[in-house]
Amino acid sequence: VTFESLGVHPQIADACTRLGFKEPKEIQREVIPWAIKGRDIIGLAQTGSGKTAAFVIPVLQRLLDQPQAFFGLALAPTRELAFQIAEQFTALGSIIGVRCSVLVGGIDAMTQSISLAKKPHIVVGTPGRVIYHLENTKGFNLRSIKYFIMDEADRLFNQDFEEEINKILTVIPKDRNTFLFSATMTSKVAKLQRASLSNPVKVQV
Ligand code: AMP
Repeated sequence: VTFESLGVHPQIADACTRLGFKEPKEIQREVIPWAIKGRDIIGLAQTGSGKTAAFVIPVLQRLLDQPQAFFGLALAPTRELAFQIAEQFTALGSIIGVRCSVLVGGIDAMTQSISLAKKPHIVVGTPGRVIYHLENTKGFNLRSIKYFIMDEADRLFNQDFEEEINKILTVIPKDRNTFLFSATMTSKVAKLQRASLSNPVKVQV
């Protein structure tokens, strides 16, 4: 199986090869074709499975067709994970010049505001800092988001981000695609799934 045989654009498939991805991992084989077709996804997968590229590739592929600022928003429970997600967007999307802002705590908010003023394609962040910028950074909003990703959703709840996530759900368009990834299916994740996904394809590896 090759990335191209899953429907991945040759430019993005080339970027995968250059990153040393010889062939798609299982989660990628299961997720990418549905995601490219425009379906919402709930993915049950552990860290290390290749889940990040499974959602990054379909988002980049759509961005290639319709480049626009504030195209995708990814929420992660920790700074480290947010940076890892942003790195994959940047590495796999360098060919299309993708620009990413990372909004996480513990880092100067002014620097982040300047980065937002440059109108990135993708915003990756932890929920609290994303809300902070919605409330404090002039001109920043999420009204044009086409892809909303929640990564490690079970850990998002461990960190008590429920209220922030619900707030973010009220300010992004209803008309969007959503990918929800979690290592485990908990009752809170199931509730979030019902509140945020539309007729999702469920993938478990
Ligand atoms: P993740 O589960 O998304 O944290 O990915 C774990 C690691 O696997 C990351 O370092 C990725 O760069 C790497 N990776 C993702 N997809 C592939 C692939 N198809 N082949 C080889 N490595 C991959």
